[in-house]
Amino acid sequence: MTRQRRSAPASAVIIAVGSELLTPHKVDTNSLYLTEQLDRMGVAVRRKLVTGDDAGEIGAAVRQALRPGELIFLTGGLGPTDDDRTRETVAGVLGLPLAEDPAIVADIRARFAARGLEMPDLNRRQALVPAGAGVLANRRGTAPGLWIDHEQAVVVLLPGPPRELRPMFEQQVAARLAGRSGVSGIHRRVLRIAGRAESAVEAVAYPIYSRWQTSEPVMETTVLSTLGQIELHLSTRAPSSEEAERRLDTATAELAAVLGRDLFSSDGSSLEAVVGALLLRHGLRVALAESCTGGLVTSRLTDVPGSSAYVRAAWVAYSNHAKVAGLGVDADLLEANGAVSEAVAEAMAQGARSRAGVDVGLGVTGVAGPGGGSADKPVGTVWVALAGPGSARRARRLQLPGERDRVKFQASQAALDMLRRALLRL
Ligand code: AMP
Ligand code: MG
Repeated sequence: MTRQRRSAPASAVIIAVGSELLTPHKVDTNSLYLTEQLDRMGVAVRRKLVTGDDAGEIGAAVRQALRPGELIFLTGGLGPTDDDRTRETVAGVLGLPLAEDPAIVADIRARFAARGLEMPDLNRRQALVPAGAGVLANRRGTAPGLWIDHEQAVVVLLPGPPRELRPMFEQQVAARLAGRSGVSGIHRRVLRIAGRAESAVEAVAYPIYSRWQTSEPVMETTVLSTLGQIELHLSTRAPSSEEAERRLDTATAELAAVLGRDLFSSDGSSLEAVVGALLLRHGLRVALAESCTGGLVTSRLTDVPGSSAYVRAAWVAYSNHAKVAGLGVDADLLEANGAVSEAVAEAMAQGARSRAGVDVGLGVTGVAGPGGGSADKPVGTVWVALAGPGSARRARRLQLPGERDRVKFQASQAALDMLRRALLRL
């Protein structure tokens, strides 16, 4: 067993630089990526901020972040143009003179030459390196990253484009970080729950996880309510990986015992992936008949690699005519019950199943809104029906809250969950 040194956990500050990030048109995603990566290494992000390409703002942010032991990441502003200020500003704040690195100039020149172009003189700015800094090569762009050890802090400059920043982090920054004290693994588990409200999850889960808050090492639990599902995030930082994983296994088992079949995933996998795995395990194929979800259930199922093994066919039967012509729903049945009804949802599921010649048919019909609601079928009324496997027949009426896209997603979630529960009964 590999015991890791116990030391104060490392912390980080992320400064996303880019004037475009202060407009309504562009979101800073680099900090989300970095947070995820740092999190895995047990580095807690203490603060993150976005500044424009403004030397004053960048300088103030760096000065405020500097303290012994801190890991400070800046992303963006390493381009060749005048509005790219990060490199010069950071060097200024840290009092480091800049010098041109001929190897970087040669590298950038070669990148241009490979495209039959001459390097503009402006790009020389990207070869300026603060004294003592480590150069992080950029294989996907001209701007190299920089690693600067400053007193007991570290300042890391990374290029703005995510496709350049990510490989640079994974191939060069991660290894450098791994050697630092306080950087160790946080181990986590994501549990996902369907068909139970947040308060109902809390009612059974809290008595269990509240005990862990005072245990040693601490197991932290976060309850997150997302659309159509509840998530429990467990994390712990045990002295060894084996111990952390063992503790997570025990914790997961305790929660699974009270959550029963509402717990659909304890390894972070999606509902569609779980359903896919069950279909595969039982060698069953499915066909879908979707109205208000407009193909969303099929789209989600086919997001899973390998889904061609169990998704056979799908109909987006939006109009009554399509339900009759495409799926063989009885026109009189439609007339008598309306398109949003138990009978029609069942006929759609059955139609998909028999027309595709598969084991299971799944049908969804509903009122996504904002128009089209009535007193007995208000917006958010959805019927989900399952035909098969075998003689199994199931239908469920849902009353879903929210806007059109939320109704559609929750309907797709309910349909997939109905299928999952039917497969668990086999
Ligand atoms: P820069 O390194 O500032 O020249 O950034 C180049 C491009 O990277 C920008 O135009 C953005 O499209 C993208 N970018 C910069 N910062 C971020 C960020 N924090 N998150 C996502 N994309 C970014
Ligand atoms: Mg920029």
